[in-house]
Amino acid sequence: MAAKDLWTTDPRIELRAGPDFDLAELDRNGQPGWEGDKDDGEAYLPERGEEMSELQERLYAEGRDDGTRSVLLILQGLDTAGKGGIVRHVVGMVDPQGVALASFGVPTEEELSHHYLWRIEKELPPAGRIGVFDRSHYEDVLVVRVDELVPEEVWRERYDEINAWEKKVVEGGTTIIKVALMVSYAEQGERLMERLERPDKYWKFNPGDIDTRSKWPAFQEAYADVFRLTSTDHAPWYVVPADKKWYSRLAVTEILTRTLEEMDLGWPEADFDVEEMRKALDALEESHR
Ligand code: ADP
Repeated sequence: MAAKDLWTTDPRIELRAGPDFDLAELDRNGQPGWEGDKDDGEAYLPERGEEMSELQERLYAEGRDDGTRSVLLILQGLDTAGKGGIVRHVVGMVDPQGVALASFGVPTEEELSHHYLWRIEKELPPAGRIGVFDRSHYEDVLVVRVDELVPEEVWRERYDEINAWEKKVVEGGTTIIKVALMVSYAEQGERLMERLERPDKYWKFNPGDIDTRSKWPAFQEAYADVFRLTSTDHAPWYVVPADKKWYSRLAVTEILTRTLEEMDLGWPEADFDVEEMRKALDALEESHR
């Protein structure tokens, strides 16, 4: 039996940020647009995953056939928000050959010697791929702002610069989807504590996470500005409540799938004579009989 589609509103409308977005109002334990429960969500996820996977194959085929289009999913969120889970459980539902994953940590010395977009530009997805950024150039207006790694007049300029740069990327054929996973303070505390209580989770813990957590209000302020200033028509932000992992995975899957559906992806025409090839294959079979 097919699982039920319990989306009452397109999450791309429900979760989209804009100039008036108020981050303080977000219910991070909410599930906007989905009227089912966790079981309903978990039942529906693989169904949409299958659809997403077929669309991704079409995109890949188009890329092999001189297409120029690609998709870029940018993932942001504080530690424990579930970026890794999105990569594993959402992106993991499509053929890994069609995915180009890049993670951005503390910049290397070489990266720091270049413009901050240099290392980002290098990882843009080639035609036919779904690129996934685990963190991104937004760190350059988040951690860089909070930790005062550059003066304010430098990071202030970056919002407009990022908007203009993303516009160019979109004009080059890449559809940009920006997803911020927003976990609550209490939930983050529990997830961090869990990492310290389970030997199989120690590897995920980084002593720096405590330092970041201690700067929670500053990060919220920096995120709020990102949403207000860089959610454009060409590259919108979707702010996803992330206390319920099943919801954030379901919502991101839906956003990706609906975006791919709207790209109107077909299958490439054969660039050979199908009938002639069939005959040639038949003839070969005959001669081996
Ligand atoms: P994660 O914490 O996502 O598992 P890593 O441990 O590799 O990944 O590193 C992420 C860290 O890199 C984060 O603390 C993030 O703030 C930091 N980082 C990313 N981009 C920048 C940047 N441009 N400048 C400074 N720090 C950055």
